[in-house]
Formats: sequence, structure tokens, C-alpha cells
Amino acid sequence: MRPLLFLILFIHTALADFWDDRNTLLSNEASQLFGSFWELTENEQKVNDILMKFKLQEYDEGLSNPSKFLPSIHFFHSKAAIEQSEVFKFIQKVPKGASLHSHSTAMLSTEALLNLTYMEGLYGCDDNTKFKLHFFFGGVNDDCDWRLLEDLRNEDSGFDDFLRSKMTLVVDDPAGTCCDINEVWSAFEDIFEFVAPLFDYRQFLHDYLYQVLREFHDDNVKYLEIRGVFGETFDSNNTIYGPLDTAQLYKETQQEFAIDSQDFAGHRVIYSNSRKVSIDTMDSYISDYLELRAAYPEIVVGFDLVGQEDLGEPLSVFADQLATIANRTKFFFHAGETNWYGTTDLNLIDAILLNTSRIGHAFAITKHPEVLRVVKERNIAIELNPISNQVLKLVDDLRNHVGAYLIANGYPVVITCDGPSFWGAKGLSYDWYMAFMGMTPREGDLRILKELAWNSYVYTALDKEGLPFILNLLQGWWDDFIKEILEAYH
Ligand SMILES: [Zn+2]
Repeated sequence: MRPLLFLILFIHTALADFWDDRNTLLSNEASQLFGSFWELTENEQKVNDILMKFKLQEYDEGLSNPSKFLPSIHFFHSKAAIEQSEVFKFIQKVPKGASLHSHSTAMLSTEALLNLTYMEGLYGCDDNTKFKLHFFFGGVNDDCDWRLLEDLRNEDSGFDDFLRSKMTLVVDDPAGTCCDINEVWSAFEDIFEFVAPLFDYRQFLHDYLYQVLREFHDDNVKYLEIRGVFGETFDSNNTIYGPLDTAQLYKETQQEFAIDSQDFAGHRVIYSNSRKVSIDTMDSYISDYLELRAAYPEIVVGFDLVGQEDLGEPLSVFADQLATIANRTKFFFHAGETNWYGTTDLNLIDAILLNTSRIGHAFAITKHPEVLRVVKERNIAIELNPISNQVLKLVDDLRNHVGAYLIANGYPVVITCDGPSFWGAKGLSYDWYMAFMGMTPREGDLRILKELAWNSYVYTALDKEGLPFILNLLQGWWDDFIKEILEAYH
């Protein structure tokens, strides 16, 4: 063979190998992508074409103009543009199944929360260090100069703006120099403390909870698992109710909502108290939980600890106590919500040793190959909270979120929303949007959204015997959604 011909043949063969190998690698990767096993029906494929037209247009505009790509922008600045996005409007219509990670006092949209502060009996007071709220009936306490909110509003037309600023983290310049992660967490916890007294009034708690169910239901979420505690409450006669009565109120509100919205599948509460406590206090949490769980197994379904992991006690401090209830408790631990490596993130190791059913955040999980292995082996779902992680300063650009790795490798993930109230979001769709646009590949399609919806039920705390029934309901809602989209866009 002449040398020139040999060279041409060699290059041709090498290039053929290159392209064959490239196709093989891409196809192997595609088969590992989250949700890739779904086979779309003909109608689903048509709906997928509509979705992908929207996605590719928005995605490619981002490629041309990266500073406008919404998942790369802080949510306080991207929210208004997200609401104009066709992908977001599509996601709002998707039956998203369940919302599995949000905190009971941080779930309602800011405007609805503000409206609830118009309830009778609410007073405010500035005690020179901070402004406080409290409901009083038949006379106020003498510990502060309490004023009716109605009077404060009449005196100051900007009072609601002031109140709104106390109820959210929203600021004009979130990327400015004001806050490191500890400072933003301190502000976050101040809001929990600010709104907490509102929930002591039984009517407020009822109305709040009912509206939470309404907002999530309107966002096509039919079931919720909420992190929360059951404190004492009082009514307008100043009758005091204990934690068990508060659990009863959760149950009754759910029943009331289910009568008004018959396709609602209910809510459950994961008992979640502070991790910044002593061993003795943890003992009291555990006994409170066991009492509530025994009395209301249909409401109280698990146990978790909350608060900033970097500054709270690690799970290992309470491991011996928690192990005593592990055989009769489902754990849903927050773990690895940190950027540190070799410290706070060890909560991930402890969470799997304690046989956690899901992991909240798991942001540090890629630093722990053994945790990754166990999560896949035992099918432990990861609750991803994209906007929370951005606002609380774990990641600026959501394309760099750990969720992209987990989705690329087909890990069991669900998308959740943590505390939408405190960053101006509402329901679950904003977080689904961020995950779909920021953490899935350009070609990632309807199959990912379908798998997210199905996973949201597969990984609930509900008994597995009921799963076929609820998945059947979801299939019906999904079929209706496919029909609705085809009618709307054709
Ligand atoms: Zn959380």
C-alpha cells in the first residue's frame, strides 16, 4: 500500500473510532440520566416537543448572553423574570405530586402571611432591641408598650413595608458585601423567631395552615410532608391547648381542606426541633415525639433536627439517644447542608448510620463516596432545595449545584422548597424551574419532570402498601395534564 493511502485510511479509521466511541459514551451517559428509563407515549412526546421548544429557546438565549441565564442569577433578582418564563408557566401546570421538605412556619407566600397579620387581636411592640408581634385578648402583657397593629398602620402608611421587611430575607443587593453564611443564617433564624409568636394563636395557625394547603394545591401539589413542632396554643378566650391539641388542629385543618378540595391527599409532619440543644433537652424532644407519634400516627411520621448545621451540634452528639428509637422511627435528617469538608459534612455519615429514610440537602455528598454508594444501594432519597441553597449562600450559580451531579448519575432525588415564605417564593414551581433549567442537561426533557413527580410519592413517609393507589391517582392527574397541554398549545 502506498504511504499516502495508508495515512488516509488510518485517519479515516481513527476518526470513525472517535465518532463511534463518542456516541457510545454519550449514549451511556444518557442512559444514566435521572428519569431516562421512561418511554414517552405519543401524546407525551407531543407535549415534550412543546416543553423542549420553550427550554431550548431559553437555554440558548442563556448561551448567547450568560448574564441573563436565570438559574445563574440570585433569586431575588431572577424571580420576576422566572414568572415570565414559558418553562416556568409549563412547570406550574405539571402535577408535581408531593412537597417533601419545607418548614411549617416558612411555607406561606409573603403577601398571604402579611394579609394574615390583619387578624383581630394582633399587637406589635418595639422593645428598643427588636420589633415583636403577639396576639392578646382581654388585655396585653405589661412587659412592653404593646400597640394594636391596626393603630400602627393608621399612624404609618409604610408600616406594611416595614413588616414585610421583617418577614423575609429579600434585599436589593444580596450579592453585596453584607453577609457571610453565618450572617445570612442569623437573619434567617431571626425571621423564624419573629413570626413564631403568631402561631401561638390557634385561629392564626388554622388559617395559616389552610392557606398553605391552598397555595400548594394551586401549584399542583397534592400532598405535603412538613418539618415542624407542636407547641402550646391559645384561643380568643385565652384557653390554653397542649401540643396534642395542636396536632389535632393539624388533623382537622387537613380534613377541612380535603372536603373543599377532594383531590387533596393530605399532609404529614416530621417532628423537627433545634439541633443547638443539650443532651437533656434532646431527651425531652424524643419523649415529646414519641407521645405525639403514639397519639397521632396519621399526622406525625418521623423525626429530624433543624438549624444551621455548621453552628449546631452534630448528629453524632445525639447518636446514642437517637439509636434507641431508630427501630420504631423514620428519620429524615438534614445533613451535609454545608460547604465545609471534614467537619459539618460528617453528619452525612451519621445520618446513614442512623438509617435515615431521606436526607435533607446533602449538599456535601459528593465529598463522601461511601455515602454516595449507600444512598444508591439503600435507595435513600436526597431532598434538593435549590433556591434555599442559593439564598443561604452555599452556591451562587445553580448550574454549579450538587444536584446536577446527582441527576446526571440517576440518584434518587426529589425537589423541595425549604422556606419559600422567607425569600418571596410560593409553592414548589420556582424550585422545580431552577432544577430543570440549572441542573439538567440542555436536552433533559419531560422524562425528568415525570420522574420528579413520581419520586415525590415513592419517597414519602407513607406506608408502602398505599403507594400503588397514590401512584394511580398521580397517573390520572398526569394524563389530565398531558391533555390540558395538548389542548392549550395546539
Ligand atoms: Zn430545611
